[in-house]
Amino acid sequence: MNIQSDVSLQLLHTLRLKSQARALCTVSGTAELRTALAWARAEGLPPAVLGEGSNVVLPEYWETLVILQRIPGIEVLSQDGKSVRLRVGAGENWHAFVAWALGQGYFGLENLALIPGTVGAAPIQNIGAYGVEVASFVESVHGLVTVDAAEVTLSTADCQFGYRNSVFKGALRDEVIITAVDLRLSKQPSSQTGYPSLQAHLESAGIDSATPEQVFNAVMDIRRSKLPDPAVQPNAGSFFKNPVLDTAGANALRERFPDIPCYEQSDGSVKVAAAWLIDQCGWRGHRVRGVGVHSEHALVLVNDGGDSAQELLRLADAIAADVAAKFDIDLAIEPRVYL
Ligand SMILES: Cc1cc2nc3c(=O)[nH]c(=O)nc-3n(C[C@H](O)[C@H](O)[C@H](O)COP(=O)(O)OP(=O)(O)OC[C@H]3O[C@@H](n4cnc5c(N)ncnc54)[C@H](O)[C@@H]3O)c2cc1C
Repeated sequence: MNIQSDVSLQLLHTLRLKSQARALCTVSGTAELRTALAWARAEGLPPAVLGEGSNVVLPEYWETLVILQRIPGIEVLSQDGKSVRLRVGAGENWHAFVAWALGQGYFGLENLALIPGTVGAAPIQNIGAYGVEVASFVESVHGLVTVDAAEVTLSTADCQFGYRNSVFKGALRDEVIITAVDLRLSKQPSSQTGYPSLQAHLESAGIDSATPEQVFNAVMDIRRSKLPDPAVQPNAGSFFKNPVLDTAGANALRERFPDIPCYEQSDGSVKVAAAWLIDQCGWRGHRVRGVGVHSEHALVLVNDGGDSAQELLRLADAIAADVAAKFDIDLAIEPRVYL
């Protein structure tokens, strides 16, 4: 196994911050992952996994063995007339997998098209977009326990999925390295088109009852028109989660701010658009010391060439403080911050 020392991570994460790892290796199988974990243990270095680095804020120097998760493979486990069960290697690219599944006639993931990153990272924050979350399709998650490389399988219930959350961000944070994810997809086409901007996009295209292909294409169109491409303007997608309030809290806020965009959730809670809160505080388009807030999308913080994680987090703190002062709401950062 090739383990490199003192490696720049700047091109290995989408924020492109200045960052260097003490050691780095790439794993394309479970045996290699075991070797990497044994090496880290022997060196006394904590291991840390990176997929495609699209949801992380990295430190300038990272005293760790970075394991680039590249385990490939898509396997059909079983199928009947209604559904198919797939095992997908954690290192597969998420969007390529979604496109492949659609091509095979395996439906459900269309709303999650073009989300950057790997399949193995998808359960970590329960990726979601346009009214759909990956949790609805995950049957189990396979991995190795970081401390002793023992194999582990977690059921959907074990994963404790929530809004941009799972057990991998809580009790099992850094405890398990995901090697494969089992998903059940439908063989019967049905489309989730209720999300307001998706619905509006389909209506404007004159599409009444959308096929999964039409949803897939619409989601890609919307995302390309709204979100900055990290290759052009480095970013980590939404930097803050949308706050979730109880009904009383949401009603009180709606009384003070009648225009506030709120989305009722099935459990009775109400999700508030963090982008709107940030915009109302005047941060959209703001630039400071090489970092900034995207001019079209206030939820996206960008690296404008400053390359400094500290500056980015200083900006995030200032935004959160303004939102707390104006709306009495605490914003939570979505990407994993390793500083
Ligand atoms: C432009 C843009 C748009 C985005 N849009 C969305 C969106 O619509 N919805 C959404 O939910 N997210 C979105 N994201 C966030 C991101 O795409 C997802 O969080 C994605 O799942 C991250 O995948 P990754 O492979 O890049 O993970 P990384 O950034 O490499 O890792 C993220 C975290 O997961 C851990 N991790 C990764 N792989 C494994 C593994 N195999 N085992 C254990 N831990 C692991 C890492 O250690 C790290 O803590 C967006 C990001 C960008 C840049």
